[in-house]
This record gives sequence, structure tokens and C-alpha cells, in this order.
Amino acid sequence: MERTTCCVVGGGPAGMVLALLLARAGVAVTVLEKHGDFLRDFRGDTVHPSTLALLDDLGLTERFARLPQRRVTTVQLPLGRDGSLVTVGDIGALRGRFNYIAMVPQWDLLDLLADEAGREPSFSLRMSTEATSFLTERGRVTGVRYRTADGRTGELRATLTVACDGRGSLARSLPELRLRRFTCPMDAWWFRLPRRADDPHGLVGGVGDRLLAAMIDRGEYWQCAALIPKGTDAERRAAGLAPFMANYAVAAPWLADRVHALGSWDEVKLLDVRLDRLRRWHRPGLLCIGDAAHAMSPVFGIGINLAVEDAVAAARYLVEPLRAGTVGLRDVRAVQRRRWPTTALTQALQRFAHARVIGPVLAGEAPFGNPRRARRMAEWVTTSRRLNRVPAYFLAYGAVRERPPAASVR
Ligand SMILES: Cc1cc2nc3c(=O)[nH]c(=O)nc-3n(C[C@H](O)[C@H](O)[C@H](O)COP(=O)(O)OP(=O)(O)OC[C@H]3O[C@@H](n4cnc5c(N)ncnc54)[C@H](O)[C@@H]3O)c2cc1C
Repeated sequence: MERTTCCVVGGGPAGMVLALLLARAGVAVTVLEKHGDFLRDFRGDTVHPSTLALLDDLGLTERFARLPQRRVTTVQLPLGRDGSLVTVGDIGALRGRFNYIAMVPQWDLLDLLADEAGREPSFSLRMSTEATSFLTERGRVTGVRYRTADGRTGELRATLTVACDGRGSLARSLPELRLRRFTCPMDAWWFRLPRRADDPHGLVGGVGDRLLAAMIDRGEYWQCAALIPKGTDAERRAAGLAPFMANYAVAAPWLADRVHALGSWDEVKLLDVRLDRLRRWHRPGLLCIGDAAHAMSPVFGIGINLAVEDAVAAARYLVEPLRAGTVGLRDVRAVQRRRWPTTALTQALQRFAHARVIGPVLAGEAPFGNPRRARRMAEWVTTSRRLNRVPAYFLAYGAVRERPPAASVR
């Protein structure tokens, strides 16, 4: 029988950070990741100050600095005249070393975490291994059944199983955890366009006709996103690629000479945007964190941040009981109690932005339903430097700062 102390399902930001922190503290941890590598384009690239500070605590700042990256110091929303972008969070104005968001391809960050965790004898990573169901005994989750890419199946028993498997989590099929869904006004399209040396850099946004554009600078190319009204994918595709690209060029005029590089709709991937959270993140033997517990919208680009902070808090609450073999319902409940207020507040702000800004802009209306009110709001946010620090701090560090367990710090 295969056995570990902590089975982490999913090697995304939440799973890899949790596994690294536990392994460094000497807890036997096995990560199951269903894909064969971390190479997936349609993932967030933002590494926020809270994660940069964590990497520093873990002694990884120098390794991280060697990854290809761009720095962004502002977060913007289309609040201005004619939907122009207004800075709602000036992270560059915050004090401290990490007053920027690093745009790093997520696979590079995950590779770094996996490599670092691989130095610990208590860490094991099984790629191409998908958890297929939970093992249970007398109402307690005691591990998972899994299947590998070559069709092999097995069972891994664990003192604690942590679901870090994103918004399609296996745990979401458990009726007692109960999912609460919120409406989202948009879906996202993702595609690539070539980048030139004299283009802007970092993260760039723009507004077209019932479309919001965001472009992530990946050096050689732009990873482009287009937010479209929810459920309009088929209708918009039927209208043709040329009108879409013309509209994208309205949002980003400096890309107008390259939009035709997109050959067909096959190069444009749809991502269904969701916002939800579990009412309960745990049951005996099981804890859910990151998107598995609360799927985040791309608004503010804050989902990775939240997933990493969940992992840091979970490691802090669980290291000692896992080492002592006494982990119980009280410990996993404490993690939800700690992380729930930040999650609920962040999602409330995302819902506010959906309802008052993104939804109206995608419907071809002014944000806040009234251009004057939108402008007043934008002025209010931007004119007071002191006031501006509040959203900037929240975007950078979340509502509460999470510190890693002392045993994981180097
Ligand atoms: C369009 C869009 C854009 C976004 N952009 C940003 C952004 O720029 N910045 C940002 O911070 N956030 C962004 N987000 C949100 C962000 O992607 C998530 O909040 C974040 O990735 C959550 O991390 P996670 O580790 O919890 O889950 P995930 O990143 O979803 O990782 C889950 C992992 O589990 C694996 N897995 C799944 N099921 C199984 C299984 N059964 N067995 C084994 N492995 C499994 C998956 O392969 C995956 O590697 C965006 C979201 C959307 C929808």
C-alpha cells in the first residue's frame, strides 16, 4: 500500500507552494499532477508582492530574479472618459522592496518551486497522475485513487488530503461542501500575437466595442486576452475573425499592423470565467484551498496571489499537527476560518467590478451606468495619493499577510 502524510492533489500555485513549505518542514508530501508538465498558456502570469515576499523568506529571490520577467506597477480599470483605463491601484507607490507585480510565465514559477521542493527528501511529485476519486473510511477521507497517463491505477493513502486541483476540483462533487456560484458577465478569449521591440511592455489594457483587451508581454510575443460578454462565443465567432481583429485593433491601435497574424479561430481559445466558493472547505481528512475552494475571476489578476496565501496559511496551521500525526477537523477548520474573510472580500470587490464596470462596458454602456459618475469615481480614486494606497496595498498583499511556518524559512 502506498502511503504519505500529506497528499496534495494538483500542482498549480496553491499545490506547489503548500508542498514546498511542508517538505521543508520535514513532512512527507506527495503531489499528484494530472498533466505531464506545467506548460499551459492560459494561466495567470502575475506574481504579486505578497508572493515575492514569500519567495524572499524562502531564500529564492535570486533564483526568481533569473526568470524572464516584466514588472508592472499599476492595476487599471476602464473607468475614464470613453472607457479609457484609470489606475485603481498604484503598487509602485507602496514602500518596500517589492512594490511591483512581476509578470512571469506561470510554468517557470511552478518549475522553480518543483525544483526547489525536489531537494527535500520528504517531497515527491508525480506528474501525469490524475486523482480520480477519494478513498474514505468511516466518513473520513484517507487518500485518493489515481490513474497515470499510461493507464496504470493505484491508491495513495494519506493522513491529510489537500485538494489544490482548481475550479474543476474532485472535492466539488462532495455534496456536504456545497458550492455557491456568483454570476459573471464575461468569458475570455486567449491567443498570441507577435511582439516588436518598440511595443509597450508589461501588462497593457484597452477597450474596444463591447470588448476589453489585456496583453501580457512575453518577450517574443503577446499573450492576448479579450473579455467578451458571457455566452457570446459562438455568435461572435460566426460573425467572422476579421471584425473581431478590427475591434481588437481599436482597443490596442499599436497592434493594428499585426492582428492579421491570427490565421483562424482555432488559435483563439475560450476560457469560461467563473466566480464561486465552497461554503465548507473541509471534511475529516480533507481540505480544499486555492481555486478548488474559491474560483476567482481574472479581475485584478489576483487569483494566484490568493491561492498562494491559502497555501502559506495552510502550511502554518498544519505543519505541527501533521508532524505529530494529530491533524484533525479543528486544524482544517482553522485554515478556512483564517482565509474565508479575505476570499469573501476579494470576491465581493470582483463582483462589484463585474456589475458596475465590466458588465456595463461589455454591454456598450458607461461604467456605473453613467459617464459622469464614472469620471467622478475615477477622479476620487486617483487624486488622493493616500487613498490610492489602500487599493494598492490590498492588491499587493490582500486583506491579511500570511507568513510561512518558521521551519520552512531559509
Ligand atoms: C481568464 C482568466 C485569467 C486569469 N488571469 C489571472 C492573472 O493574470 N493573475 C492571477 O493571479 N490570477 C488569474 N486568474 C485566476 C488564477 O488562474 C487562479 O486563481 C489560480 O491559478 C488558482 O491556482 P490554484 O493552484 O488554486 O489552481 P490551478 O492553477 O487551477 O491549478 C490546479 C492544478 O491541478 C491540476 N489538476 C486538476 N485536476 C486534477 C486531478 N484530478 N488530479 C491531479 N491534478 C489535477 C491541474 O492540472 C492544475 O495544474 C485568471 C483566471 C481566469 C479564468
